[in-house]
Amino acid sequence: MKKSHGPAFRKELKPLMECAACRGTGVIRGVFHQLDCTRCHGSGWVCQATGEALPLEELVPQLNMKLRNMAADLNRARHGQGDAQLQYEQNNRRGAGGSNFTGD
Ligand SMILES: [Zn+2]
Repeated sequence: MKKSHGPAFRKELKPLMECAACRGTGVIRGVFHQLDCTRCHGSGWVCQATGEALPLEELVPQLNMKLRNMAADLNRARHGQGDAQLQYEQNNRRGAGGSNFTGD
């Protein structure tokens, strides 16, 4: 019996696509209520190459990477502008201490 042991595969981002069965929502509309989509484990995503759901232990880190990438993109887009402005925000305090004349 062959057993793959240890870190045989690197964690890398696999192309995912919306699950066709639930259209990416992760749920199927039943007659009376919504059911978890069994095709994609309720994630809404399936492997683009095979069209099959990834096993959960693989799906979760994949979704994590995807989410992190998207969050990073969003962050970049937000900070792309107006970032320099913050740096120029400085105290322009005038007054005491500037010219401290003590006549005697
Ligand atoms: Zn699905």
